[in-house]
Amino acid sequence: MAEAESEVSRTRIMVAVNESSMKGYPHASISSEGAFQWTLEKIVHYNPNGFKILLLHVQFPPGDGFNEMNRVYTSPSDFQVMKNRNKARGLHLLEYFILRCHQFGVPCEAWIKRGDPKQVILFEARRVQPDILVLGCRGLRTFERIEFGSVSEFCRTHPECPTMVITRKDEDMPPNRVDD
Ligand code: AMP
Repeated sequence: MAEAESEVSRTRIMVAVNESSMKGYPHASISSEGAFQWTLEKIVHYNPNGFKILLLHVQFPPGDGFNEMNRVYTSPSDFQVMKNRNKARGLHLLEYFILRCHQFGVPCEAWIKRGDPKQVILFEARRVQPDILVLGCRGLRTFERIEFGSVSEFCRTHPECPTMVITRKDEDMPPNRVDD
């Protein structure tokens, strides 16, 4: 009963996390790592038990991009193997963030969805209704945002709930800022 009551009074923060575009799974992107760390340090820090972190990772169907480009497929089971492998990689990413939450002492839950990240993040925010949605941001320039798209920009301008966007620090910028 007490546990159920504290569950209700916890502030629920949804953090959208993705994999590193340079190192791949299970490594987190610089921007989502930064947003997660910022959430722990600046919001959760003084009262971990007053919060719950909801971690969402969205995978593009059906594969994981370049690794699948040169493969030849011969049977339906090949695709199942690929899907399972991709999902497992996503789970390792979530495992990393779940571990960090546990070390910090903040309650958490995490899940994976498939689809277009910006659309799915908004769909999940509408469904779950967190108190705050936190996203990282690569800090792309206008022309880069037009060419490559910006998940955080889309979510910030179509908010389903209060939304915070944490831009990467200058010292964390990779040589090519489209990378993450
Ligand atoms: P941007 O640099 O504007 O494209 O935003 C990058 C941020 O969007 C990341 O730090 C994540 O918070 C979020 N994001 C991007 N892709 C995904 C994904 N596949 N799953 C969950 N969140 C994502």
